[in-house]
Amino acid sequence: MYSDYMERNAMGVCVFCEIAKGTAPASMVFADEHVLAFLSPEQPNPYKVLIIPREHVATLYDLTDEQAAHIFQATVHIARIIRTVSGCEGLNYVSTKI
Ligand SMILES: [Zn+2]
Repeated sequence: MYSDYMERNAMGVCVFCEIAKGTAPASMVFADEHVLAFLSPEQPNPYKVLIIPREHVATLYDLTDEQAAHIFQATVHIARIIRTVSGCEGLNYVSTKI
């Protein structure tokens, strides 16, 4: 499935926008009117979650202050859930793009 994402991305289609529209599959763990969070398709560990704004944003630098606030609020919420279910006290937070 991950190679399918990369192939479509190479064709210029934003897979995150497709997930936000519901036209690409994703295992959702959180959703509200501003943010979506889903398990990584490559899933190297059971708690790798990708968190995205509902509206397309190319990079971290392009986020509005409001989008950044919503994403980080969702991140803290999801981190607390991961801590509860995993028992791990720490985690890594990484900002990246495909
Ligand atoms: Zn997009």
